[in-house]
Amino acid sequence: MSLTVLLVEDDRELRGTLRESLTVEGYAVLAAASLADAHALLSNARVDIVLLDLGLPDGDGETLLAALRRGRGMPVIVISARETDDPKIRLLDAGADDFLVKPFSLGELLARMRVALRHRGTPTQAAITHYTQGALQVDLRAHRVRLADEDVHLTPTEFKLLARLVRSAGQVVTHRQLLADVWGAEFIEHTHYLRLYMGQLRAKLEADPADPRRLLTEPGVGYRLVEGEE
Ligand code: CA
Repeated sequence: MSLTVLLVEDDRELRGTLRESLTVEGYAVLAAASLADAHALLSNARVDIVLLDLGLPDGDGETLLAALRRGRGMPVIVISARETDDPKIRLLDAGADDFLVKPFSLGELLARMRVALRHRGTPTQAAITHYTQGALQVDLRAHRVRLADEDVHLTPTEFKLLARLVRSAGQVVTHRQLLADVWGAEFIEHTHYLRLYMGQLRAKLEADPADPRRLLTEPGVGYRLVEGEE
């Protein structure tokens, strides 16, 4: 099961970029743009690690840090544009596991997340980022899909759907799970989206879309991407 990150960040662009990158790395991402959103998500979902911006529209991220320290023990990494040493030391004293000053690289963030999770004894698995099966090659980090050494162009939604299946290759992923992870929790009833996009993916990735050998239907349950090769 993938680890869940609560990303608390009011900058829409950064939130979107981080959400996408962390999803590709195999994390389930819950995004909050305010302290109120973050509190609501924390009371309703299991969260394994928190990425916390400080300057939020309804207050300072520090207050959430204090609340988290009184309650559950998941690691918190502060991501902030404030770079003076003083708040950094204070926040680490207040119980933040780490502090990253914006702008930071994705590689550094991922490494710090792994360290923070490891310190709490949370097992971290290297995310699946490559998939090969016969003539099909998928590189999730590079957003690249190749079939018989030709680049295949996928729309962003087709790519997200394929990426979700790659991360669970060999396993059935239910309709609801796919709809929630690719389109969002509010779309779990929209199974026609799934049929449409699965049809498009099969048209691009299967020799005979009517007789799929890679993107398999599990009737009444969901879909399964056949297991990749080592
Ligand atoms: Ca901010």
